[in-house]
Amino acid sequence: MEVKLAVLGGSGAGKSALAVRFLTRRFIGEYASNAECIYTKHLCLDGRQIHLEIYDPCSQPQRGKLSLTDELHWADGFIIVYDISDRASFAFAKALLYRIRESHIGACKKMAESSVFLVGNKQDLCHMREVGWDEGQKLAIDNKCQFCELSAAEHYQEVVVMFTKVLRTITSNFKVKEKRRPSGSKSMAKLINNVFGKRRKSV
Ligand code: GDP
Ligand code: MG
Repeated sequence: MEVKLAVLGGSGAGKSALAVRFLTRRFIGEYASNAECIYTKHLCLDGRQIHLEIYDPCSQPQRGKLSLTDELHWADGFIIVYDISDRASFAFAKALLYRIRESHIGACKKMAESSVFLVGNKQDLCHMREVGWDEGQKLAIDNKCQFCELSAAEHYQEVVVMFTKVLRTITSNFKVKEKRRPSGSKSMAKLINNVFGKRRKSV
């Protein structure tokens, strides 16, 4: 089964740190910010083989090749990241959730929303906190998505638990939708392939 996951959020929120932490167990501190990439990983979840693709966008949005509309079409699920010590990143996350919600209106709205996970990252910086835990939780409830706070820098297990939850939601949505998956999804995959060319990284 193929699962496509997009990690979105403001620049510096920790999108790359989260993806790399999940894929390699490591926190390396500095991440290339001038390129977007799709990481791939094979994993087994509840006895099912999953071919996972994680899209980590370019930190400077104007240099990215995909627009948010493309990202919304491509992904089966989203991890929306903000930095709890940066209120602007929370506002950015809010705007993203709004766009995702709007784009799914009409088509399996409920299912699409539940495969979104809102993540308040950098919990280790809580002495510099600008966004309360309750604010994050309220935003998640308002948008019917899952929520947690964690630290890509300090928590490995929490990162794995969060990714596992979102993958489980996506795969159970697939089971429901299996007979109704749009026939156009293959050509969209091809299109994305063309856009990204050979810049795929396997970790
Ligand atoms: P991106 O632009 O969203 O991909 O953000 P990055 O993953 O490149 O992270 C931006 C900066 O925040 C880097 O210097 C990271 O080392 C740092 N960072 C990421 N996650 C954490 C975290 O959980 N705690 C702390 N203290 N710093 C983090
Ligand atoms: Mg990045």
